[in-house]
Amino acid sequence: MKSERIPVKSFSADNGFIGKMQKLVREEVLPYQYNILNDAIPGIEKSHAIENIRLAAEKLRGKDVKPDEFYGMVFQDSDVAKWIEAAAYALAAGEDPELEKAVDETIQLYGASQHEDGYVDSYFTVKCPDKMWTNICDAHELYCAGHMMEAAVAYYEVTGKRELLDIMSKSADCIYEQFMKKNTRAYPGHPEVELALMRLWRATGNEKYKELAKHFVDVRGQAPNYFVEEKKNRGWNVWDGAEELNTDYTQSTLPVREQKDAVGHAVRAVYLYTGMADVAKETQDETLLAACRNLWESITKRRMYITGGIGSTFMGEAFTVDYDLPNDTVYAETCASIGLIFFARQMLQLEAKGEYADVIERALYNTVLAGMQLDGKRFFYVNPLEVVPGISGKAATQTHDLPQRPPWYACACCPPNVARLLSSIGSYAYGEGQDVFYTHLYLGGTVRSAQGFSLECHTDYPRQGTAKFTFHGDKETTLAFHIPAWSQKTSLSVNGEAQELAALLRDGYAYLTRSFQEGDVIELSFDMTPYKVYASSKVPADTGCAAVQRGPVVYCAEGVDNGGDVLSLSLREGGALWEKPYDPDLLGGIVPLAAEGWRTQPTQELYSRERPQRQAADIRLVPYYTWGNRGENQMRVWLPEN
Ligand code: ZN
Repeated sequence: MKSERIPVKSFSADNGFIGKMQKLVREEVLPYQYNILNDAIPGIEKSHAIENIRLAAEKLRGKDVKPDEFYGMVFQDSDVAKWIEAAAYALAAGEDPELEKAVDETIQLYGASQHEDGYVDSYFTVKCPDKMWTNICDAHELYCAGHMMEAAVAYYEVTGKRELLDIMSKSADCIYEQFMKKNTRAYPGHPEVELALMRLWRATGNEKYKELAKHFVDVRGQAPNYFVEEKKNRGWNVWDGAEELNTDYTQSTLPVREQKDAVGHAVRAVYLYTGMADVAKETQDETLLAACRNLWESITKRRMYITGGIGSTFMGEAFTVDYDLPNDTVYAETCASIGLIFFARQMLQLEAKGEYADVIERALYNTVLAGMQLDGKRFFYVNPLEVVPGISGKAATQTHDLPQRPPWYACACCPPNVARLLSSIGSYAYGEGQDVFYTHLYLGGTVRSAQGFSLECHTDYPRQGTAKFTFHGDKETTLAFHIPAWSQKTSLSVNGEAQELAALLRDGYAYLTRSFQEGDVIELSFDMTPYKVYASSKVPADTGCAAVQRGPVVYCAEGVDNGGDVLSLSLREGGALWEKPYDPDLLGGIVPLAAEGWRTQPTQELYSRERPQRQAADIRLVPYYTWGNRGENQMRVWLPEN
């Protein structure tokens, strides 16, 4: 059954798990990031992103701006875009005149950096206006425009202010001219504008934007490869070095409808697939939908970490091959898991299947949350599942796998991406179709349906497994609740009366159809018993190991809880797992776990014929998303079991 995402404004969080995260984004993350974008925090990686836009605006007004005054990545503008988008969502939670003023000023500045014909990009305006649209493979003009289109739609939907929407409509018109009329074989090197154009189409009703999104999807990967041809004729690049062009990297080896395996740069891949799924939905394109399903399967059945991380190697920040899921040299960029959530939500709108919502949970409660320090001021780009200080971040194969979150990055795509996802999470948690209202995620707070009713949800999920919904209004409708695949024993009651779940269940959702009345109470209870998970024997990195999960939350062992040494620990085969009492003061409030296991005695020789001695030991485990918050120490998700 098809459904639509709900507007961000329709959900307001209470003071529960997600509400606190959103508050952190509003009160800490957004002001912190705004200061960074304005270079107002000394001693950390410089952004210069707002200054670049100011320079572009001044140059357009005739000021003598030198090309080398631009600083940062070719896609530096996108950090500003994602910050505006996150700020827009934060404003949906309540008025904040100071934040709104900061956004308005930034938008005004951005508008002043737009060319007469609608072109807008500070890198090219400041640095090399003669090279506009000549490097579609690497120069990210369409990527930056896409992010700013998303920001424009978000800000318009929340505040009703049109200025950025008008700027980006003009930009989209310029892109339309360029790619529908002049350079019709080209398509974005870094997908993003496809999904953004679909959002812009919905917000403005301008059919050209949908047509352009579909065009970019359709021409991708057509022979001869556009990027190969472009590179031959171009003679310049944004990156140093002349690498061999790898068409898998940009998902352009084949036309998208013929692609079966998720390949290349993982963020690019999932942004592309999200756009494809949206185009498939809006054009009833069954072949495109079939390709999306194949790519979904490729990722989630063969190329995804237990944490919802994707991208097994730092070489190209990319997917590799089936079952290659190393825990230490992994990439698993935060943005890639966020993009996977985009893709999952888009598929969920096409077909209500629990597996999509299961993956959203997996990525959200593990990799995405791990991407941010609990204080909101440090961030992971890469999310390893095994960290050994001294090796991680040091060995040549692991320089990218840091044992601690840095405060900022030269390439700062992930931090504002986390902010925009968390502050708009309500639009991922619910969906609305013809006479049916879906709950995909369990978040404390109130959601308003377009059918005129609202649902108030009390829950401490994922810390606890119960969710109590109170119906406000009076309506004959269907409420559909996601039943997570991990829950072995689920109960559902309406006004205290237990329902037979099997009779309600279809594709991972329990459908309740009736005439709901004011004050009706629907209660769900999921089985939060901790459990061990085993990887397929085809995954070399995890043979002989188990990981521990409780609900959707993957746990890990950290040195700080285990005498400093995690490498000597193993789980006892058939051993017990148990919950420790909820600790509100530990790591922002968690339910720690313990597991029966072994500790091997340390040995010094590199190799020895002696089997190391071992003793019984209890292993302490904490949620993976909280790791690295207590100083540098060892961490492992997969532990040997023996
Ligand atoms: Zn990123």
